[in-house]
Amino acid sequence: MGVQMVQLENVTKEFDDTNVVDNLNLDIRAGEFLTLLGPSGCGKTTTLRMIAGFEKPTTGKILLNGKQVDEMEPYKREVNTVFQSYSLFPHMSVFDNVAFGLKMKKVGKEEIKERVTKALKLVQLEEYGNRKPKQLSGGQQQRIAIARAIVNNPKVLLLDEPLGALDLKLRKQMQLELKHLQQTLNITFIYVTHDQEEALTMSDRIVVMNKGKIEQIGLPYEIYERPQTRFVADFIGQTNIIEGTVRGINGEMAEMEYANKPITIPNTAHVTKDEEVIISVRPEKLKISSTPIEGLNNVKGTFKEKIYVGSVTKIVVTMPNGEDLTVNESHDNIDELTNTNDIYVSWSPNNSVVLKK
Ligand code: ATP
Repeated sequence: MGVQMVQLENVTKEFDDTNVVDNLNLDIRAGEFLTLLGPSGCGKTTTLRMIAGFEKPTTGKILLNGKQVDEMEPYKREVNTVFQSYSLFPHMSVFDNVAFGLKMKKVGKEEIKERVTKALKLVQLEEYGNRKPKQLSGGQQQRIAIARAIVNNPKVLLLDEPLGALDLKLRKQMQLELKHLQQTLNITFIYVTHDQEEALTMSDRIVVMNKGKIEQIGLPYEIYERPQTRFVADFIGQTNIIEGTVRGINGEMAEMEYANKPITIPNTAHVTKDEEVIISVRPEKLKISSTPIEGLNNVKGTFKEKIYVGSVTKIVVTMPNGEDLTVNESHDNIDELTNTNDIYVSWSPNNSVVLKK
């Protein structure tokens, strides 16, 4: 476990009698890339603004590098922020934009030159110092905003949807660049996004937020493979939600009834007989076949439609209870299988994730 760089203790922020951030507890380690992920309005930006010092918590404490900072002015905190709108000064050259903070701090000319050159090199724009921001592409402007934020050697960099204005291809390229930059600098990054794929690609840990509260904190793999709540399962990627009743327990496994069929699930959540349970099964964990497959859960359904999306074909199968399950398939005999009306949807019991209600 590394040193705790940012700590939020019971932090609540109230606007107009509503808790937009509701009793948040979070420890962020030095050098960590941590992402706050959640839908619009869930309180991500407000959390970031409280760490930066632009907002004061209504209750609770914020510590930076072990020191309580609730009353400290933003500019005194060893924190810098990068916004989606690059906020560059249009009349200044790229060099002067990056040098601005250092000049304000009265750093010597030679040192400014050295540090700005190094920061521009880190974002691969050392040749662009003399240009004005409007002579650069969106991606390049965002890199300048990042260079300006890292030139002060902050301990923590806060990034609020920094890639939001870029087109998809550039955005994906910048995601990797930023991740590599963070690894090179070893600065703590706190990154805000509502894009789950971006969060999975870049983060060491992800905090999934919903309505001002933390739903789950975990490694990208855990958040995707082992969502704990229905909200997380639904929000991260696509999933199938299956609801049923527990009919029996058998050691580490349990049996539930779904659409009048027995289904085996892992009993990690310690369910009890007659309990109503909800499970999540990702479309890529499901298969279709013409006959039941031994050792798997098998439910016979009716083919509804198939949607080609490039990397896979999504096959929608209607279950006997009228619900649809989506299966991602990449194999070649899809046409043959979907020509018959009745097909089995099958999956390994261990790929069922039992959710908290
Ligand atoms: P987005 O992804 O849309 O930026 P977010 O998760 O970052 O959303 P916040 O910007 O933190 O969400 O906003 C959380 C809630 O707080 C929203 O309902 C917003 O309208 C409200 N809010 C934010 N700032 C203020 C303010 N200064 N005064 C009143 N309400 C505010």
